[in-house]
Amino acid sequence: MDLGIRGRRAIVCASSKGLGRGTAEALAAAGVDLTLNARTKDVLERTADEIRDRHNVRVQAIAVDVTTDEGRAALLEAEPQPDILINNAGGPPPGMWSDWGRAEWQAAVDANMLTPILLATAVLPGMIERGWGRVVSITSGSVKSPIGRLGLSNAARAGLTGFVAGTARQVASHGVIMNNILPGQHDTDRIKGLMEATAKGEGITVDEARTRAQASNPRGRFGTAEEFGQVAAFLCSEHVGFMVGQNVLLDGGAFNATMG
Ligand code: NAP
Repeated sequence: MDLGIRGRRAIVCASSKGLGRGTAEALAAAGVDLTLNARTKDVLERTADEIRDRHNVRVQAIAVDVTTDEGRAALLEAEPQPDILINNAGGPPPGMWSDWGRAEWQAAVDANMLTPILLATAVLPGMIERGWGRVVSITSGSVKSPIGRLGLSNAARAGLTGFVAGTARQVASHGVIMNNILPGQHDTDRIKGLMEATAKGEGITVDEARTRAQASNPRGRFGTAEEFGQVAAFLCSEHVGFMVGQNVLLDGGAFNATMG
């Protein structure tokens, strides 16, 4: 399917690896020029080179921490007028509600709520003026179904979801479409870290933790960054003009519900 976005320009946050990279690859395959971002310069530049070579689009690599004011400013200086914004950042550490004080909450809210809100706030006026835009925020299945040990994520992402729900309806008449994509368990470095924490907590091997987690999913496996990226790119396409403020769950059916 032609996504109808060839020649558009995208900022893809946190995209040297994992779900951000999967999204960047799928956008590049659709002919979108990219501004990629991550903190580790060499890994980011390698990803940028590979995507540039494979898809023949313009790719710039901005190695900054997107959760900082300076990082976001550098990203926006490199690409002041994106047509597409993919909001993403690392997820907060697992733990118990009793582990977290003000500093931990502030870090989670900064990374997974305020960073995407502030980036959207910065790019929405230009999108509105040009009459076209797509903002896709990578949140988590935990927005629909809380994960106990990821309380920082449950709460911060719920705040972002509320912002998108209201704002999406305020900007839609200008051709600017905002939606969220909610990953379940995908096989990335993030899930490796979480499986290691589960294994430690339950006194089992990492392989056992992975096998159990995959067996409990209706698909019997984790998702991949590639299939995630294809769905995220569709949410940036010309075809979602009437899809506003939605939360698209991509979890292999793990959330057990007849609807919603
Ligand atoms: P990942 O494979 O660990 O990749 C994370 C990417 O983000 C890397 O490129 C990393 O590069 C970059 N990054 C991390 N912190 C950053 C920061 N402060 N500024 C700029 N770049 C940053 O993780 P993932 O699985 O793709 O997860 C992406 C997001 O989806 C996370 O918020 C995660 O919690 C959420 N999520 C993932 C899953 C899953 O199953 N994978 C499920 C639900 C939610 P550097 O480290 O070099 O910066």
